[in-house]
Amino acid sequence: MAKKKIVKKGKKPHKNKVTSRKYSNYKIEGDKITRTSRFCPRCGPGVFLMNSKGRFYCGKCQYTEFEGKKKEEVKEEEKE
Ligand SMILES: [Zn+2]
Repeated sequence: MAKKKIVKKGKKPHKNKVTSRKYSNYKIEGDKITRTSRFCPRCGPGVFLMNSKGRFYCGKCQYTEFEGKKKEEVKEEEKE
């Protein structure tokens, strides 16, 4: 009799996942801690905004902010 190949299903080899890299948003200079990223105005301190192509994006609440613009949308003046 030919041996049956045992195919395991459902179980995947465990891989170490990359944890939240919040620490990479902090810089320690001497005794001071400086933040390199900005906090989400909705979620408050502790939640960083991801910077991508001039956009700040919150992965928690999907808050998006464009670089160079303030919270309020800047009205574009039409010029002729
Ligand atoms: Zn948020």
